[in-house]
Amino acid sequence: LAGINGGVVLTEKTDIQSLNWQELTEYVQQTGQKAFRGRQLYQWMHKNLVQSFGKMANLPKSFREELEKNCTLCRVQAAERQVSSDGTGKYLMRLSDGNYIESVLMKYKYGNSVCISTQVGCRMGCRFCASTVGGLVRNLTVSEMLGQIYEIQRITGERVSNVILMGIGEPLDNYSNVVKMIRMLSDGHGLQISQRNITLSTCGLVGQIRRLAEEKLAITLAISLHAPNDTLRQEMMPIAKQYSISEILLACQDYFKKTNRRITFEYSLIEGKNDSGTDARNLATLLSGLNCHVNLIPLNPVKGRMGKRPQRSRIEAFQAILERNHIKVTIRREMGSDIHAACGQLRNNRERDDLTLL
Ligand code: SF4
Repeated sequence: LAGINGGVVLTEKTDIQSLNWQELTEYVQQTGQKAFRGRQLYQWMHKNLVQSFGKMANLPKSFREELEKNCTLCRVQAAERQVSSDGTGKYLMRLSDGNYIESVLMKYKYGNSVCISTQVGCRMGCRFCASTVGGLVRNLTVSEMLGQIYEIQRITGERVSNVILMGIGEPLDNYSNVVKMIRMLSDGHGLQISQRNITLSTCGLVGQIRRLAEEKLAITLAISLHAPNDTLRQEMMPIAKQYSISEILLACQDYFKKTNRRITFEYSLIEGKNDSGTDARNLATLLSGLNCHVNLIPLNPVKGRMGKRPQRSRIEAFQAILERNHIKVTIRREMGSDIHAACGQLRNNRERDDLTLL
């Protein structure tokens, strides 16, 4: 069975939570129901966040039974949770096919921010990253991406105000589902999270960045740059062999022109690799004149992967050089450092445990 625009069918049934407002209305009408039943159903799934058709009290019993027979409600379930002393929560989420992904809740003064995964695994191969170790397993459906936010909101009972697409996977490698999910999250019918409060982080897929610019979304685009020149970037990120930094920067300029949204550049600082004064000066030269912001990320080291975290003094020296060169820069606040898990590690541990069990 084919899905409707990203409404992927995991079994013989329709993944109804991946249908947007309009598609759901059409679907409901095709079943002989009035359009307003679609609105009620949408509200149960995307506002009240219920996980069973049986709980949708204002829908006729016969309609609920029909839905039960023909559709699935997405189940993203927290299998494990680590909570740090600063309130950061790292969730290992189990999907209905037994795969695992990760999501993180960070608490800020301005509200709760959730970082979600967009794929099971990743095929980009960044040398410092745990998420790519077993390659790409599959893309997440729209409902599985939304489901991570819904599950965290259900568990905490607190509203999620910001969403970051920076967990496991490369969001632009799952392009259509990701764009659809962003629209559903922000379109006023579901959780109504403003697009300005959504950040999408990419390792720099130039074609998709240009395509995204045409979508006219008001989200923040974050580029994982991590190096001030192509040679070093290619050593750290295989995708850099396909797209040069200058191609990425041209796409970013175009993105800014079309959306008027300032670009963020993520730069993971790795001791002795990309954290020297010369690297900082080269980065400043590269970005001068661009309307951008640099986010310095002290590396969260992963066993068996590239790199160590530099000393704090070295990180601050790097920041100072960028500031002297009029680049807007912040050092990412270290959150959840006492739970010690870089993205992808929880999932890798769980999969190893499962293998041991087998
Ligand atoms: S850093 Fe992101 S793009 Fe790179 S391998 Fe990890 S998940 Fe994939």
